[in-house]
Amino acid sequence: MSMLDNINSLLSSLRLGVVDFDSLFAAKTDLTPLGSIELFLTEQQRLRVEKQNVLRRKRANIPREKTLESFDFGFQRSIPKEHMLRLSDMTWVEQAYNICFLGPPGIGKTHLATALALKALDLGYASVFTTLDDLIKVLKTYEISASSKRKHKVLHTADMVVIDEVGFMPLDQNEANLFFSFVAAMSEKTSIVITSNKGFDEWTDFLGDATITTAILDRLVHRCEIIKMSGNSYRLEKRQSILK
Ligand code: ADP
Ligand code: MG
Repeated sequence: MSMLDNINSLLSSLRLGVVDFDSLFAAKTDLTPLGSIELFLTEQQRLRVEKQNVLRRKRANIPREKTLESFDFGFQRSIPKEHMLRLSDMTWVEQAYNICFLGPPGIGKTHLATALALKALDLGYASVFTTLDDLIKVLKTYEISASSKRKHKVLHTADMVVIDEVGFMPLDQNEANLFFSFVAAMSEKTSIVITSNKGFDEWTDFLGDATITTAILDRLVHRCEIIKMSGNSYRLEKRQSILK
């Protein structure tokens, strides 16, 4: 076995990253033995961080790449750009604050929530994106389904959970209770970012029960930035047709 083959097999059995030694040591002919080890270990650390970033990004389950840079704050005037930029520093995640984006369809709620989740990933936070529908499915089945169990763990170890499309579908009593338990478990530990087409005064309509609605909102808005958005649907205004 050549020395390189031997090194590669050692790297693999030690679960270390594959290193391109030629480029790593290029133009570094004067390295001492300790200097070589330092360079090699630094490279291993870089590879590990890179791998963790890729994993975190995959776990986050972000449906579409949406950024603040691609958001037209001239079109959506109910939230100033500087507010969103301030929220981009993620200090509120450190303090486990929540954010609720409320307003009618098509005005950019999911876009902004996604942009925050992506920004959080960039800064090293574990964020994860789910619709309320999917969240409820996971909460109902994590004890019997391996994939739900995995998602459940990701949700419970996240720094930020985006719950999209709250209010689209009515929940039955059991589902509303599961939603409450989740919000309660997250509170003051993990930031929740909600998008909803329903104002808080309409939440009873889909949660079905005033007591559970109050309990959920109580936990959610205790430490929360509420961003009420209005305006016309971006989708409708910027409708693209096939035949121009
Ligand atoms: P909502 O979640 O409020 O229903 P979305 O965030 O899904 O709306 O927005 C609908 C579509 O329009 C998305 O593709 C989104 O990227 C785009 N969009 C909405 N508002 C803006 C905006 N102000 N600038 C750029 N794109 C926007
Ligand atoms: Mg949406």
